Amino acid sequence: MASFEPITREVQKGHFTIFPGLCKGCGLCLHKCPKRCLTWSKTLGLYGTPTVIPDNGACISCGICSQVCPDCAIVITKKPEEKKADA
Ligand code: SF4
Ligand code: SF4
Repeated sequence: MASFEPITREVQKGHFTIFPGLCKGCGLCLHKCPKRCLTWSKTLGLYGTPTVIPDNGACISCGICSQVCPDCAIVITKKPEEKKADA
């Protein structure tokens, strides 16, 4: 049975969260990611298909995966930009 507990990974510039209970394993996010950093996860989704998980080091928190997901299964949050030191 799919889990409704979200899974969150800290990535370079923010956090990647997936809701397995919403993911139908269509793979759209995986194909649209500009960094090609999503892979299939062992966690199962809505129909018993694999969900996705990012490579923490490669994800740039662009949010494209979240925007293209037809089921709103991914939420991307960004860390606040670090203030640049005054010159
Ligand atoms: S936020 Fe961007 S880089 Fe990160 S997994 Fe989604 S599409 Fe890929
Ligand atoms: S686009 Fe959404 S439903 Fe499709 S595999 Fe990605 S997270 Fe799952």
